[in-house]
Amino acid sequence: MKVGVLALQGDFREHVLSTSECGHEPVEVRTVDQLNSVDALILPGGESTTIIKLAESFGLLLPIREKIKSGFPVYGSCAGMILLADRIFDGIDGQQTFGGIDITVRRNAFGRQVDSFESDIEFNGKSLHTVFIRAPWVEEVGPGVEVLSSAAHHPVAVRQGSLLATSFHPELTGDRSVHSYFFDEICKAR
Ligand code: GLN
Repeated sequence: MKVGVLALQGDFREHVLSTSECGHEPVEVRTVDQLNSVDALILPGGESTTIIKLAESFGLLLPIREKIKSGFPVYGSCAGMILLADRIFDGIDGQQTFGGIDITVRRNAFGRQVDSFESDIEFNGKSLHTVFIRAPWVEEVGPGVEVLSSAAHHPVAVRQGSLLATSFHPELTGDRSVHSYFFDEICKAR
C-alpha cells in the first residue's frame, strides 16, 4: 500500500519510518497530487493549530475533508487526533479541524509539556507501552465511535469507520501494533 503522511509540521518522519517498518510505501504529502496518489493518510503529532493553518495555505484543507467524507482511511496521532475531531475544547479562537470523528477532544488535557509521560495502556485488548506529549483526551463520544483505549478515565484511542485516532504517539516507540491495526484492520478491510 502507498501510505501518505501529512508532512507540513510535526513528527511525520517517525510515521514514515513506522510505515516502512510495516512493509508499506510511505509518501510525504505536501500537495494535492501527492494526496491523490496514496491509499491512506496519516496525520502526525505536532501542533494542531500550526498543521491546520499550513494545510489551508498548501490547499490541502478541503481536499483532505473531501477524502474523509468519501470514507478514505486516515489515522491521526495526538495533534492528528485533534485534527480528526469534530469538536475541540481549549482550542485557539476559531480553530478548525478536518473533522470526521464524532468526538469532542480536550487539547493539552493531561497538562503542559512538562507533564508529558510514558504509560502502559491496553490497545485493542493488548498491553502497549506508549508516550503522551501535551496530549488531548476525548471528552465526548458520539454513538458511532468505538473506544479502543482509555487512560485517566477518558478515551485515548477511538475509531469511527475508516478513521482512527490516538492521543498518544506509537510512532515514537518500537511497538508497531497501532500502525498494524490501522493497515490491517482498517485499510485492508476497505
Ligand atoms: N497539544 C498539541 C496540539 O494541540 C498536540 C501535542 C502533540 O501532538 N504531541 O496540537
